[in-house]
Amino acid sequence: MRAGLSASDQAFQLEVRSFLNEHLDDAVSRKVRLGYSVTKAEQDSWTRILNARGWAAPHWPVEVGGTDWSMIRRHIFENEMRGAHAPELQGFGFKMVGPAIINYGTEAQKAHYLPLILNAEISWCQGYSEPQAGSDLASVRTRAESDGDDYVVTGSKIWTSAAEQADHIFVLVRTDPTAKPQLGISFLLIDMNTPGVTVEALMAFNGKRLWNQVFFDGVRVPKGNRLGEENQGWSVAKNLLGNERMAVSRVAENRRILGCIMRVAEAEQARNIDLGPEYAAQLASLAIRLEALDTTAQRLLSTFDQGGTVGGEPSMLKLKGSELVQAMDRLLMDAIGYYGLPLDSTLRGDDAEPVGPDYTDMVASGLFHHRGYTIAGGSSEVQHNIIAQAVLGL
Ligand SMILES: Cc1cc2nc3c(=O)[nH]c(=O)nc-3n(C[C@H](O)[C@H](O)[C@H](O)COP(=O)(O)OP(=O)(O)OC[C@H]3O[C@@H](n4cnc5c(N)ncnc54)[C@H](O)[C@@H]3O)c2cc1C
Repeated sequence: MRAGLSASDQAFQLEVRSFLNEHLDDAVSRKVRLGYSVTKAEQDSWTRILNARGWAAPHWPVEVGGTDWSMIRRHIFENEMRGAHAPELQGFGFKMVGPAIINYGTEAQKAHYLPLILNAEISWCQGYSEPQAGSDLASVRTRAESDGDDYVVTGSKIWTSAAEQADHIFVLVRTDPTAKPQLGISFLLIDMNTPGVTVEALMAFNGKRLWNQVFFDGVRVPKGNRLGEENQGWSVAKNLLGNERMAVSRVAENRRILGCIMRVAEAEQARNIDLGPEYAAQLASLAIRLEALDTTAQRLLSTFDQGGTVGGEPSMLKLKGSELVQAMDRLLMDAIGYYGLPLDSTLRGDDAEPVGPDYTDMVASGLFHHRGYTIAGGSSEVQHNIIAQAVLGL
């Protein structure tokens, strides 16, 4: 039990653990533990198991298939899921566009999309960034011109994760080029199978298809697919980010990686490889940073639960949580040494065996992949700006 939890929250924690023991597939859990990607079919199957228990979208309102859990319970749930190495659900649907549909959707949009998200029957990607618009998102240029009951969308989105397997994309488009940047944007839900949508792969430096560029060439999108009012898409986007920003600490993920480091250290010692006192000191330091992060996350979540005002503080969680993942990755890499050098087996081929012990195979891949954590969702520099202005009042 973790200190500070009420008796009922501790009982809830045990209930979640017992559910995981009963329902989580060992082979899938092993994949997650060792850092391999789960297939879309495995992720969808786990989503449906959670949905059958009413736990697929804990943060949604009960009326649309969510729960009435407090922020603390959601934090416990997330920690238990990650601690048991359960696959993560598709964040674009559950954490981003789903809550935006709940807040801004028409009754018809809610009735159509929300059950499909809950049961993994629709798959989303996020079309915000453009070649000329990243941190300065309000400068998006992809145009949506009114034509009868449709918009005609032309432009391109970049760094679009998961577009290769998504069937829908939510995009910020410019509907009024004459208005001030934030005032001329609308939020559209687009079926990726619409004529004129094309997807090109962008490869990361670990050789994997991490992103895509999505092109829109005269794509006709019914106006009924607009979320919120025309030219009010910036409010939808801000609300969507607001929904997400309380859950950015990566505490659960850090705890998972710390567990990996401990297991690797034990295994290396069993092979008579002495990682030395300096290594132990670094490990202790990371564990302490994690406890500080978790305590800060719990403090902010409790403040939020009790109706208190939370301003720019979640930026501290985003900054510290993403930096800690990267520090954990480096220590894990140090522990496995040269076993980190070969390409991981997902790149060598489906049947390739790891070159070293199984826990070494995906370490370098994870280290490379997690470099993006200090950029995606708002770079560290942008978080520093928010903390300076909104938290410290500088
Ligand atoms: C792994 C990963 C997944 C992603 N997935 C998606 C996705 O699915 N969909 C999507 O739309 N986008 C996605 N992105 C894109 C991401 O949102 C952008 O990369 C991010 O917003 C930064 O924008 P940019 O790359 O254009 O960099 P820029 O905004 O051009 O920034 C370049 C550099 O300047 C710094 N900088 C910018 N503004 C300031 C400022 N005001 N003060 C100080 N420094 C500043 C930045 O910190 C950065 O170091 C993803 C990115 C990554 C890394």
